[in-house]
Amino acid sequence: MSGSARKTVAAAAPAATEDGGRVTHYHAHIYYDAATRERAARLREQAAALFPDALVGRWHDAPVGPHPQSMYQIAFPRELLTEFLPWLMLNRDGLAVLLHPETGDDLADHTAHAAWLGAMLPLRLEVFGR
Ligand code: ZN
Repeated sequence: MSGSARKTVAAAAPAATEDGGRVTHYHAHIYYDAATRERAARLREQAAALFPDALVGRWHDAPVGPHPQSMYQIAFPRELLTEFLPWLMLNRDGLAVLLHPETGDDLADHTAHAAWLGAMLPLRLEVFGR
């Protein structure tokens, strides 16, 4: 009895971690400026052609939301991560990319949950109002 109780406690410990099950989809934000806009355009065309299930958002030539630099967003379903991420790693062509999950917690998704490829840009977190 006491043995199985210990086992229950031990088995309960990992429950404090998350398995990613509440990630509905991902965003890749591709940053660019005047000097890198052409490269960003090339990446954008390639991504749209190769990943029809990804939604390529419009160009934001001015900073918008937490993003401190011009960017566009590529939203994709979680199932596409293992295919899309390595492709992005190999083809981002020096561009800074913010990859973040969508879990419903905007602040955490853009900070604690976020991954960066290339340069890490300082986000304007005050837009989340916390
Ligand atoms: Zn996003």
